[in-house]
Amino acid sequence: MTPDEIKALVRTIPDFPKTGIQFRDITTLLGHGRGFAATVEWLTQAVAGAEAIAGMEARGFIFGAAVAARLELPFLPIRKPGKLPCEVIGVEYELEYGLDRLEMDPAAVGAGQHVAIVDDLLATGGTAVAATELLRKAGARVDRAAFVIDLPDLGGNARLASQSLDVRALMA
Ligand code: IMP
Repeated sequence: MTPDEIKALVRTIPDFPKTGIQFRDITTLLGHGRGFAATVEWLTQAVAGAEAIAGMEARGFIFGAAVAARLELPFLPIRKPGKLPCEVIGVEYELEYGLDRLEMDPAAVGAGQHVAIVDDLLATGGTAVAATELLRKAGARVDRAAFVIDLPDLGGNARLASQSLDVRALMA
């Protein structure tokens, strides 16, 4: 399938979760077996060379875990606070209103391991920058991030590039 054919499988919902937001809904893409497989294949090519794949809760788990399994690489779940039963490291990051936090098991990363980040959507880049900071704190080398969707007007791509990340997106 071409990127345009895959893009046609993403639904846009106006005014969700609040007025003025055009929410890009990937559930329609997930519901299309060939489209989902083609998306995973594209992401898999985009992270070639990585030694582990990190995905952010929750939609990053869907794509990141599929890519990791396809490449027979470790999958590192980057979680919302209070979910992991082990000792964790965390980073806080700013949302439009207030703060949020991401956590991970530091033992999941090997020193200097090349980790690629996979998520469904890049908007402001706040989530991916925080995930990068967290993985680097754990000792990883993070040099690649792959997304299904990039919303370039929101500046995430440039923010990640300034963190020395090579950013790939299947569609804008
Ligand atoms: P950022 O931190 O501003 O780059 O936002 C990216 C995060 O918010 C990702 O983890 C996405 O899952 C989620 N997100 C933001 N906007 C949308 C959207 O329109 N559709 C789906 N997820 C979104």
